Amino acid sequence: MRVIDVHTHAFPDAVAEKAIPFLENEADVKAYTDGTIGSLLASMDRAGIETSVVCSIATKVSQFGPILEWSKTIASPSIVPLASIHPEDPDMSARAAEVKAAGLKGVKLHPYYQNFIFNDPRMFPLYRALIEHDLILLCHTGFDIAYPRDRIVDPEKIAAVMERFPHLRLITSHTGAWEDWDEVRKHLLGKEVFMETSYTLGILPDNDVVSILQTHPSDYLLFGTDCPWDDQKRALDHFLSLPIEDEIKEKMLFTNAKRLLGL
Ligand SMILES: [Zn+2]
Repeated sequence: MRVIDVHTHAFPDAVAEKAIPFLENEADVKAYTDGTIGSLLASMDRAGIETSVVCSIATKVSQFGPILEWSKTIASPSIVPLASIHPEDPDMSARAAEVKAAGLKGVKLHPYYQNFIFNDPRMFPLYRALIEHDLILLCHTGFDIAYPRDRIVDPEKIAAVMERFPHLRLITSHTGAWEDWDEVRKHLLGKEVFMETSYTLGILPDNDVVSILQTHPSDYLLFGTDCPWDDQKRALDHFLSLPIEDEIKEKMLFTNAKRLLGL
């Protein structure tokens, strides 16, 4: 069985040392790796995961460059890094072109950490540029464990953006929208929008996970863990235990991600 985890985090070694304790404290969660690429690779070996998509988040405009440079150094058959563009960057479209030129597959955005509203028209030039350069957008969607429950990236807003930009290759995280799964059913289920499972298995009851996954088009489902915020092996074992057809599991674990990422 081949497995791609489309949602993980890691940091440059010197950053990881500070970032992990800081983030653990912010969200009151425990990390399952030390935040380095080495520790992620060890976790992948333990779990039997052959490729991880590594998401970075630019919390300032100036972090675009350093994240891009680091991403280029970690890219390998095992590690697929996503860049990150800050919404206050005066030229988000040019940054998207740089991401493409660097050979990366796409970008990660996080509306809470980057302080933007998903359907704000000021983001549209970026969405347009991502489409133009054939880049993936993996966005944190739904509420965030470390923030107040402001509706800045909820299923209704996601659906509005997808209606306006049907060619945007958006991956929603946390099975559509974290802890807003009734709204996921209302606005996203059955539509051509990717969903990955990170930080959902063990939080949303299995019955609900299964009913969402079995209702959504199976070509648009992906497996993700949010490692280090969940344990990759635990999440994979949990996923494999779900009563879903093997054919859907195989698509979610490997085939869909391989196609989407062009691996
Ligand atoms: Zn994450």
